[in-house]
Amino acid sequence: MGFKKVRPHKKVCNFCKNKVAYIDYKDVETLSKYITPNGKIASRHSTGTCAKHQREVARAIKNARFMALLPYVQD
Ligand SMILES: [Zn+2]
Repeated sequence: MGFKKVRPHKKVCNFCKNKVAYIDYKDVETLSKYITPNGKIASRHSTGTCAKHQREVARAIKNARFMALLPYVQD
């Protein structure tokens, strides 16, 4: 049967690529790239972020929300 595996070129984690170890919650410009239009944290499948950095992103976004730098929404 025609089960085609769609494989766009593999995404590389941007933070790994740039050797980012710590994501600053004040870096709203970066964080905003990891938030969906409705304010949720984007899944790592859509951003290509690795598991380690996804946790960092989530933590930074939560801190940013706490500091009112980003809107509060339920994930
Ligand atoms: Zn990474």
